[in-house]
Amino acid sequence: MSTFVNRFKNNEDCYKFLSEIKWPDGQFVCAKCGNTTYHKGRSPYSRRCNRCKYDESVTSGTLFNKLRFPILTAFNIIFRLATTGTGNSSVALAEALGIQQKTCLAFKHKVQRAMGAMQQKRLEGIVALDMFSLYNIQPRYYWERVIEKHHIAVAIEVRGEKPGRAFAIVIEEKEQPALIPFIERHVQPDAEMFIQEQYGYKTMMKKRFKNISFTPPIPVLEDHMNNIADWIYNECGRFSPENLQAYLNEFHFRFNHPNNNWKNFDSLIRVMANNNLL
Ligand SMILES: [Zn+2]
Repeated sequence: MSTFVNRFKNNEDCYKFLSEIKWPDGQFVCAKCGNTTYHKGRSPYSRRCNRCKYDESVTSGTLFNKLRFPILTAFNIIFRLATTGTGNSSVALAEALGIQQKTCLAFKHKVQRAMGAMQQKRLEGIVALDMFSLYNIQPRYYWERVIEKHHIAVAIEVRGEKPGRAFAIVIEEKEQPALIPFIERHVQPDAEMFIQEQYGYKTMMKKRFKNISFTPPIPVLEDHMNNIADWIYNECGRFSPENLQAYLNEFHFRFNHPNNNWKNFDSLIRVMANNNLL
């Protein structure tokens, strides 16, 4: 964490950074009356409208509003989630940072939603697709109730024997029609798609997507599904199925942006500073 403490030493550093994102180039638009002139407000980095006197805090209208712990702690959580996939259960984070586990978990879900809301390029080149449930990949009795409703559609770029970027969403039913909106959202129309041949709906899928073929299991994709299941089992503790999408967002955020720690962090803060994206 040394890089984090070098950049953010106190709450003031965080407020300053947030204010630069919220009001870029000093631009201000009053949230109440739309006026664009202001003077300094009462709290650190708040701005008071010259016309209606509304004093807008730097966290107002962002996901940092009404935090139940210092903003420095919030930034620290975001940095950890953006940069490493291990040791970030809400229990571990709460203990490391001296906050309540429940409060920590609620904030972590906000970060995960921000990860899912980020603009991400669609997959291109060769793309392998499948649907699975955690329980089928790794039978654990604890996951039995997850299997009932929660299947996962997954798509990954295949670059030779290596994976490229990937996406996954929770779908209601394990049927290929559910894949159609997922493909439309996350895969470039000219990508060459491969899907496991065990499923039906071949004619329907072929009709909808010209570049789709049916194949036996693809190792890169099989590995990816196993990695998702492993990570959720090892790192997410007693996660609730309702939050499965949030965990898939988190996993793929790091998977798709490796080795880019500060860029990841900055993009997340940007999304979280713009609450209406979530
Ligand atoms: Zn105003």
